[in-house]
Amino acid sequence: MKICSVCGTPKGLTKNQRWLDNGTIVEAKNPSHRMIFIENDNILDVFKLVEELVGLSLEKLVIESQRKATYNYVDSILPGFVKKIMRATSYRPVVRNLTVLGRTFGLGDVGILDMHIKGGEGDYVKLGIRNPFFLPAFCGMVTGAMEVVSGTDCSISYEEKSPGYYEVTTFVSTHPKELAERLQRRTYASKPGDAALKKCAGCGGPAVLADYDFDLDAGMISRKASGRRMVLDGPAEFEAILEELERELGEDIPGTLIEAQRRFVKRGFYDTDEVEDIGMFRDHLALRGFGNLKEISFADGRLRVLLENPCLHLLLVGLVLGFFELVFSREGHVEWELASDGDLTVEVSPR
Ligand SMILES: [Zn+2]
Repeated sequence: MKICSVCGTPKGLTKNQRWLDNGTIVEAKNPSHRMIFIENDNILDVFKLVEELVGLSLEKLVIESQRKATYNYVDSILPGFVKKIMRATSYRPVVRNLTVLGRTFGLGDVGILDMHIKGGEGDYVKLGIRNPFFLPAFCGMVTGAMEVVSGTDCSISYEEKSPGYYEVTTFVSTHPKELAERLQRRTYASKPGDAALKKCAGCGGPAVLADYDFDLDAGMISRKASGRRMVLDGPAEFEAILEELERELGEDIPGTLIEAQRRFVKRGFYDTDEVEDIGMFRDHLALRGFGNLKEISFADGRLRVLLENPCLHLLLVGLVLGFFELVFSREGHVEWELASDGDLTVEVSPR
């Protein structure tokens, strides 16, 4: 994988993903497919907290939602002729390329252990992964990718062989389709915008990616200043999980998620040097693909934020609430609205 000599980012990453001027990250070949560049602990902590609050394991839901999203994604990046050649000759180069892509996204140190694909029952791919970013999501990704490669339905099993090291096997099988039909994909607003990040002269990606370390051997991305792990992933599969939970449990999942994110932010996770002023907050959100910060105002003790093209809006509501409480050292009461054109308004007032 070639590395940009100016910012140090793998060139494939900034070629295949576009950071648009409207605060979004999209697939270059499929601009309706949003991506986020997010702190890994944010995903892990929020899911853990939601599991605790609802008293259920989310593993099956995460695997299924991620499987479906990955199937669509890999299907869109593999041209039809590649699939034909692959099925006529060898699957190994395509599977290998997908593991390299996984390392580029920061999913972990992933490699092929064994594979057998002949286009029938008994086909499987066995991967080894050290330090997976989020094991159930990784399992879903592997299953979805295998379904595109093999052209059939697949299942997954995993085993922790030593601390932090897993063997993950995906194999031809059938799985219940009912859940897949319910996990519907969200479409996002995409208004034009003015949140352009300064571009790297070498690769055209955001220049600020120079603040991050891309360790392709370890399959890890981290912020150099803090060592914090980052990952590139799609937001839609997580939204589908949350919507499904809400339907299943009939509980206040939005409130739960906002609370989980508020607690996460209040633990002081984000460095204050990343969000010292409004411009930096705008860039902070745009680099992560969370949307375009259009307005932020503070009057009569109330903080008001307007964001265009948001994704994972409940996390953003929790983020604004958490920042308010951190900055003003007092508890806040949050109100929010997601308009039909996709705009998100968040207002926090002192409790
Ligand atoms: Zn560059």
